[in-house]
Amino acid sequence: MQNPEVLIIYTGGTIGMVNDPETGVLKPFDFEHLYNSVPELKQFDYKLEALSMDKPIDSSEMNPTIWARIATTIFDNYVNYDGFVVLHGSDTMAYTASALSFMLQGIKKPVILTGSQLPIGQIRTDGKENLITAIEIAGLKNKDGEALVQEVALYFEYSLYRGNRSQKMSAENFEAFNSANYPHLAEAGVNLSFNRNALLRSDKSAPELFTAFSDEVALLKLFPGMPVGPLKAVFNPEKVKGIVLESFGSGNTFANPAFEQLLKDYIHSGGIVLNITQCITGKVEQGKYASSELFIRAGVIGGCDLTTEAAITKMMYVLGLPISREEKIHQLQAPLCGEMDCHKNGVD
Ligand code: ASP
Repeated sequence: MQNPEVLIIYTGGTIGMVNDPETGVLKPFDFEHLYNSVPELKQFDYKLEALSMDKPIDSSEMNPTIWARIATTIFDNYVNYDGFVVLHGSDTMAYTASALSFMLQGIKKPVILTGSQLPIGQIRTDGKENLITAIEIAGLKNKDGEALVQEVALYFEYSLYRGNRSQKMSAENFEAFNSANYPHLAEAGVNLSFNRNALLRSDKSAPELFTAFSDEVALLKLFPGMPVGPLKAVFNPEKVKGIVLESFGSGNTFANPAFEQLLKDYIHSGGIVLNITQCITGKVEQGKYASSELFIRAGVIGGCDLTTEAAITKMMYVLGLPISREEKIHQLQAPLCGEMDCHKNGVD
């Protein structure tokens, strides 16, 4: 079998940062430095090529335009490589992983996002292991010569996660991510151990690129005692076409008639509201408690076990599709690329 060919796309983040000697602040540096800092990369029997964004960024600067650029780079190079590694800041990596999973549905090759908590040049860096193992995974094939991982995934600190199930959990620990509602795809110990039953297999015959995400979205987290008046600015169907609402527990809310009326008016005017839970594990089950019936009456859609990152990027994706409102609602409720499971525990 030919040596695997992997394309590394450097977007920025801590993995490629150095200390500014004058201010002591971390700032991005030239991608060439990454190779200098990880001479181990030269030992790979993989063919590695690297691209860097013109101006590497802190991942706080990510947006749908840059996601589209990353997705298009992967799509345009899809046939030339066995896999792709995207180096990215950890802060919004789970959003980018979710967005890329919707932009690149039907892929049969791995797209592995990784980064680090400490710059790769620092002696205690977690970046080297993350980078080296992400590259290794991006080139892995099964015995039929097909890519083992055929989805957007995120590798961090010895675990591989489904991209659109992952969330950043710690601003401090090397073990910074988790996918609390979905099994890890692999663990890296002495061996790489894959959870083969958890790996995604798309029934699409070829990858499809879709980048026309809508930014007419909002994300709202409920809290006890939340005043309803200020929400009117957000529930404006002229400006905001879809709202992701983080509710309590299994999809519950306070019984405020003004809130119910606000939701009803917004949805009646064409807005879409997707209900996800503030809990890390479990899912929305509208109708389980009386305190979710307000949502049912208003026409709010249940988002099952979607993460916040997957929900908001899925909303952006669905609102950008040239389809009817009913079809958009249908897509929001259907698993498109392994991002949600409404049937877990036999409920729904
Ligand atoms: N602020 C950085 C970023 O997300 C943190 C990191 O890279 O882990 O770009």
